[in-house]
Amino acid sequence: MELLPAIFFGITGLFFGSFFLVIAQHAATGRSFVMGRSKCDFCSRVLSWSELIPVISFVLLRGKCKHCKKKLSLWYPISELITAFVFLSIALYVTSLFPMIVLSIIASCLLVIFFSDREFEIIPVQFVLLACLAELVMLLATPSLLLNHFLSGSGAAAFFYAIYLVTKKRGMGFGDVIFAFLMGFILGFPYIIFGLYLSFLSGACISLLLVALKKKKLHGGTVPFGPFLVFGTFIMMVWGEHIAYFISKYVGF
Ligand SMILES: [Zn+2]
Repeated sequence: MELLPAIFFGITGLFFGSFFLVIAQHAATGRSFVMGRSKCDFCSRVLSWSELIPVISFVLLRGKCKHCKKKLSLWYPISELITAFVFLSIALYVTSLFPMIVLSIIASCLLVIFFSDREFEIIPVQFVLLACLAELVMLLATPSLLLNHFLSGSGAAAFFYAIYLVTKKRGMGFGDVIFAFLMGFILGFPYIIFGLYLSFLSGACISLLLVALKKKKLHGGTVPFGPFLVFGTFIMMVWGEHIAYFISKYVGF
């Protein structure tokens, strides 16, 4: 897509960001479902349209509720920006229409999973299934890849299930095992290897950073792993070919 329509697509992502957050809350907690964030988290006052403009409202209100002045979560604008970045990347790097539509559906599921696991430590299975289904539709267009992707998913899930058993369910939840299947099913071999590597690397970096900032203790207080798996999946899903080319050319592997 050309730059201007891609930017427009990215801005649409800003609005979808807050919508996905609400879906994630609904999927994880069963909280009532509304189109977007309609009330203040603290005083439950109904928000006006001027308080619901992505990112801009948050900046203008300095991250506080207009009425009760309580500090709002920084994750509202961050989620909106992440979603905008995801939409923009797909618009810029995916060239034909059919993959663009399917990847947008998969990316939307990935974002809901990211927000839900980050906040509630729950990976909503229904969105894993929806993304699997979308990927299946994509693979049916090139059936020769189907077996590779299915085996990659099964292999990744088996690997995570082993970690799940060895760490006695403390290192990883069963949701991560299910997600690992989706990750392998989307990426296929060998991209799944790079995707997992990116997930573990980013997870380790952020965990160490949080320990350094004293936000988490080294023992106890785990960081949910789902968001890092989503990160690895998305990066390889959109830039897999570029990254594989770079590695084969410069690392010789
Ligand atoms: Zn309030």
